[in-house]
Amino acid sequence: MLIDQYCVFCDLRVPGGPICSACLADLPRLENPCLCCAIELPVTSKYQYCRACLSKAPQFKRTYAAFSYLFPINLLMPKIKQEQQHFHLQWLAQALFQHLRHQEHFLRPQALVPVPISKLKKIRRGYNQTEQLALQLGKLLDLKCDSQLVLKIRDTRPQAELNARTRKTNLKAAFSARENHYQHVAIIDDVMTTGSTANEIAKTLRASGIQQVDVWILARTPALKKS
Ligand SMILES: [Zn+2]
Ligand SMILES: [Zn+2]
Repeated sequence: MLIDQYCVFCDLRVPGGPICSACLADLPRLENPCLCCAIELPVTSKYQYCRACLSKAPQFKRTYAAFSYLFPINLLMPKIKQEQQHFHLQWLAQALFQHLRHQEHFLRPQALVPVPISKLKKIRRGYNQTEQLALQLGKLLDLKCDSQLVLKIRDTRPQAELNARTRKTNLKAAFSARENHYQHVAIIDDVMTTGSTANEIAKTLRASGIQQVDVWILARTPALKKS
């Protein structure tokens, strides 16, 4: 039996919920993302990659992002992390799945690798939201979610508290990958801000012998506008 639910954004009644089709269509999408890091490029740009990726290619090859990290997506993410509203991950995973289905030259990875959190953090929070997201995507795409492939072996300061430079050093040797036979995997994360976390994990995965590492995220923060 379908229980009537109300749209999380506009309070319209939606059978099966939790978001109505009009609100879903209105969510902020990326118009012209860099193929590698998904940062939004000017719509008029003749390049497919951003300047940063062209001058120094990240350790990952492609980033797929369902949304831009703008209103109201940016209000939703903290709720998932801090207010236990993980039911959002289900429809967000579905939206990311739809986005992936419409990508040209999309290559299926062999496994999904959620960004790990330290054991202590997982005990405190009770769950790792990226692992839940990876499990949902795994179900939709019939792909293995390998949450043991990369472990966080050292506690780090929250990336959000740091600037771009200290973000990189903060993550040094924070992850380790176990031995594996994969050639292609996708890292699963909720939001990409500078890309340092994904880059550090991709580096660890590639050092373990994996040739291609992609990144799938729910949302990408827009580039800072120069004023
Ligand atoms: Zn709505
Ligand atoms: Zn880029």
